[in-house]
Amino acid sequence: MKPVTAQNNVDIRALALANAQIGGCEPLLDFARLVEEVLVEGEKAELVWSASFETRAGATGVMQPWMHLTLTVSLFLACQRCMGAVAVPVVVDRWFRFVDSEEAAEREDEQSDEDVLVLEKQFRLHDLIEDEVLMSVPVVPRHETCPGNVILSAVDPGFELAQATKPMPFEALATLRNAKKG
Ligand SMILES: [Zn+2]
Repeated sequence: MKPVTAQNNVDIRALALANAQIGGCEPLLDFARLVEEVLVEGEKAELVWSASFETRAGATGVMQPWMHLTLTVSLFLACQRCMGAVAVPVVVDRWFRFVDSEEAAEREDEQSDEDVLVLEKQFRLHDLIEDEVLMSVPVVPRHETCPGNVILSAVDPGFELAQATKPMPFEALATLRNAKKG
């Protein structure tokens, strides 16, 4: 797929009036907050996204812009059972409707199946995509079946010591990052 970066200055109204469709794939490294969440081996992943736009008549007959956002990405996270890397596929498929004011967005969002957002001249699509993926990250990522043996008790005398001295995966990740930067 063609590499296309989602921009943070998207003219939603113009795209909706044109019934436009935009999309492509983008390296995970472009999403600073997402990269923080994944293991080093997952930083090379790509996020495939697509946004299609249209207008529909709202309750008062005024035409409102709509956006259908879909995306897929595979996140490498630390399994919370065996601490090994687990690939967690994230799929987002959501509709957004755009209104003119913050008040209307807040009021209508609660009553609507779709997400209601404020129509801004330069809409931050890149940030929205990142927010949607962050909200889909599992709190406790786990393998369905962990590869290898999961040690459940400290029968092995070396186990407790190994656990005590083993750095937590995120600490290890931070150390690695700092080492790379330094
Ligand atoms: Zn596991």
